[in-house]
Amino acid sequence: MHNRDHEVVWDDKKIEDIARAIKKSNRILVGLGGGMPMSAGMSVLPFDKKLKPEEYWPFWYPHIKEQRLVQEVPAVYTQLAQLLDGKEYFIIDSNADGFIQKSGVELGHIYKAQGDMARLQCSKNCKDQTWIGKSHFEKMEKDPSYQPVCPHCGAPMIMNVYTGKGFCEERYQVQNSKYFRFINAKADEPLVVLELGVGYTMPELIRFPFEQIVMNHPNATLVRINTNHPLCVEENKHKAICAGVDIAEALPCILEKIK
Ligand SMILES: [Zn+2]
Repeated sequence: MHNRDHEVVWDDKKIEDIARAIKKSNRILVGLGGGMPMSAGMSVLPFDKKLKPEEYWPFWYPHIKEQRLVQEVPAVYTQLAQLLDGKEYFIIDSNADGFIQKSGVELGHIYKAQGDMARLQCSKNCKDQTWIGKSHFEKMEKDPSYQPVCPHCGAPMIMNVYTGKGFCEERYQVQNSKYFRFINAKADEPLVVLELGVGYTMPELIRFPFEQIVMNHPNATLVRINTNHPLCVEENKHKAICAGVDIAEALPCILEKIK
């Protein structure tokens, strides 16, 4: 047994600690990593998969239907929305699915940092522009070989999702600014930094900044729920509640306690 396992154990005391932190704080910053859709039973999407242009949409359209266009929202997302109800909150989501948007939280309080599967962009990002995918998806539904092309340069269109380079961020700038305004506001008030399922795929997006925010904020509490990487940095230990538990197990217990 790992000698720090006791620090991340999931028990009644931990549930009470988290519930107490949430109750006493009016402000909650939420970070959603790949562990969130996973705990909702979704498959991890291989955004870096190498595909020929003619293979791209036949491969991705079924995933878009399953994780972005579908109307049923997994329970973990509606539970999170319940938990945030009545609070001042902001959510940074590193997933390109559509679950958080449909969970019941305010759309204006979400920053989709890595894009959105329901939008399209030019594969060359020639004009820094994105488009709603709806009309293209309808064509794909009728004709699986349909391939959308950029109206400016004729290059194949791809999902507006971050894959390393050529990502068009234009659509997310406003929410990006709001996210930073939320972080930098009201430093004198308690803040819960709730990190759900954020691992080390791209830690510079949520995980490392969250540790930094907690370090710099006099009244912040880090709540980290993560099956594989629940520990926090040494400097934040006294301000953190770390739980090595599945989000789908944790959220109902926390909700029950804060009622
Ligand atoms: Zn183009």
